[in-house]
Amino acid sequence: MVKVACCWDDGVVNDIKLISLLKKYNAKATFNLCTGLMPEQTDVPRWLGKGELRWTFKGFINGYVGLKDLKEVYGDFQVASHGWTHKVGTAPADEFIKDALDARHYLEDVFQRECLGYAWPCGAYTPESAKLLKDAGFLYGRTIENTEHVGVTDTPMRLNSSCHFQAWDFMHKFQAVKERGGIFYFWGHSYELLECEDLWKQFENKLDMLSSDPEVEWIDVIDIVR
Ligand SMILES: [Zn+2]
Repeated sequence: MVKVACCWDDGVVNDIKLISLLKKYNAKATFNLCTGLMPEQTDVPRWLGKGELRWTFKGFINGYVGLKDLKEVYGDFQVASHGWTHKVGTAPADEFIKDALDARHYLEDVFQRECLGYAWPCGAYTPESAKLLKDAGFLYGRTIENTEHVGVTDTPMRLNSSCHFQAWDFMHKFQAVKERGGIFYFWGHSYELLECEDLWKQFENKLDMLSSDPEVEWIDVIDIVR
C-alpha cells in the first residue's frame, strides 16, 4: 500500500480548475491560503502588460480566488494557514506568529472547522519560529525540502514532502515509496500549470495513474502527522 497526499499554495485562480480535476479522480488535497492577500471577488487571470513591473510566474498573473468564493471553491477539501500576508518564518517573531494565526482564525471562521495545518511561506523558518508555531497549536509546518521518508524522520514543524508535482523524478519517487511502503506527498502551485493544456494534461495523467492504482490510498496532509 502507498498513501498519497498533496497540497497547493497561495489560493490562486487555477485552483478552481485543479479542484475539478481532483474531484474527477477522487483525490484529496490541502490548500494553503494567505487570506489577507485574497480580494473580495475572484481575480481574472491575465498576462503581464507592456512596461508593467511586478512579480509574475513566467509572465502569467493568475490572481487569487476571492474571499466570497472561498467556501464554494475549497469546501470539499482541507484548508490550512499560509500566513495572512505570506509572512516568512524568518520575520520578527511577533509579526510571524500573528500572520500565521490570523489566517488560521479567518479560515476556521469561514469553514467552521479546525485548521491546524501550516505551510511555511517561501519555505523559510527558524528553530524559534518552528517552536512558536508548535506552541500556537499548529500540528505541522510544511517546508519545501524533499525527503524519502515522509512523516518518519522529520519533526512535524518541518514537514518535508517527497517532491514538487512537476519534479522530473516524480514517477521514480512514487515507485520507490510504493516498493517499500509509506507516504508519497507532493506539493505545488496551480499557477505553474499556466493556461497550457499540455501541462494540465501531463498533471491529469499523474492523477489518473495514482487514482487507478489499487495500492494507492489518498490521505489528507494532516493525516501524516495524526
Ligand atoms: Zn506561498
